[in-house]
Amino acid sequence: MTISLAFSLFIYRVLSQEIYRFARTQRFRIEGRFFIANISPPPLDIELIDDTKNRLVMTLVVINGTILAISGTLSYFLAGHTLKPIQQMVEEQNRFISDSSHELRTPLTALKSSLEVNLRDKKLSLSQAKKLMAENIKDVDDLQALSDGLLTLTRYGSAPKPPEFNKVHLADVMAQAVTKVDSLLLKKEMLLKNLVKDVSFSGNRQSLIDLVVILLDNAIKYSPSGSTITLSSSIKGKTVNFSVKDQGMGIPQKDIPFIFNRFFRSDISRSKTEIGGFGLGLSIAKKIVDTHHGHINVISTLNKGSTFTVSLQV
Ligand code: ADP
Repeated sequence: MTISLAFSLFIYRVLSQEIYRFARTQRFRIEGRFFIANISPPPLDIELIDDTKNRLVMTLVVINGTILAISGTLSYFLAGHTLKPIQQMVEEQNRFISDSSHELRTPLTALKSSLEVNLRDKKLSLSQAKKLMAENIKDVDDLQALSDGLLTLTRYGSAPKPPEFNKVHLADVMAQAVTKVDSLLLKKEMLLKNLVKDVSFSGNRQSLIDLVVILLDNAIKYSPSGSTITLSSSIKGKTVNFSVKDQGMGIPQKDIPFIFNRFFRSDISRSKTEIGGFGLGLSIAKKIVDTHHGHINVISTLNKGSTFTVSLQV
C-alpha cells in the first residue's frame, strides 16, 4: 500500500504539472491568434484545471482502494494458509502433552495411594513392607519405561533433521535386534526362526534395530510360552520387505486401524493385566518407518497370530 500510495502521489504531481503546462501552451497559442486579430484573449479557465485535477484524485483513490481491497483479501487468505502448519503443530504438541500427562497420572496415583494406605497400616510387618517396596519398584520401572518411550517418540517425531542414512545390512540389523530380546525369548522358552536373507540398502542402522526390537518385543509379549516367532525377508524390484510373524493372541480386526496411534492398546491386551505396555511401541515403529519413506502393515487372525511387514526402498 505504501508503494502504491507513493506512486499515486508521484503520478498526481507529474500529471498536475502536465495539466498546467498544457494549459499554458494552449494559452500561448490562443494569445497568438488574438494578437493577430488585435482583441484581448479570454482568461485561463482555472475551474476546468481544478475539475481535471479533482477527477485525477478520484481515479487514484479508486485505484488505491481496489488495490487495498484485493491485497488485503489475498493477504488474509495467504496468512491463514501459511500459519496453518504452525497451528497444526501447536495443536499436536498440546495433544501430546495432555495425552502424556494423562498416561503418567494414572500409575502415579496408583503408586501414591498404595504408599499412603500401607503407611497408615500400623500392623505392617517387615516382610509385608518389603513386598510392598518390590511392587513399588515395579511401578517405578513402568513409569521409567513410559518416560523412555515418550522421549523416543519425541526424538523420532519432532527431530529437526532426519537421522543420518548409511549403508545398512538387513541381516546385521536383525541379528542385533535378536540379541536385545534374547533374555525375553529365553524366559518364555520361545523359538525364533531367522529366515532373513541379507540385503544392503540405505537407512539408519540404530533406528532400524529399534524398529525390529519393538516388533519382536510385541511378538514375545503377545504370544504364549513355547510358541515360535519367524523372521523372514523378500526383495521385489527395488523394495525390500521383512516380516515378524508370531503365533500369539492376534489383534481384533476393529483395532487394526488404530494400533499405530499413540497410547492405543487393544482391549484384550488391556484386560490381560500381566501384559505391560503403554501403547507407544507401534507409534514409534511407524515414525521410524516414515523417516525411511517406507510402509508398515499387519495381517492378524485372532488366537492364531500376527505378521508385521515393513517395506523399504533398496
Ligand atoms: P504396547 O505393546 O505397549 O501396548 P504397542 O504400540 O506396541 O503398545 O502396541 C499397540 C497395541 O497393538 C497393543 O496394545 C496390542 O493390543 C496390539 N499389538 C501389537 N503387536 C501385537 C502382536 N504381535 N500381537 C497381538 N497384538 C499386538
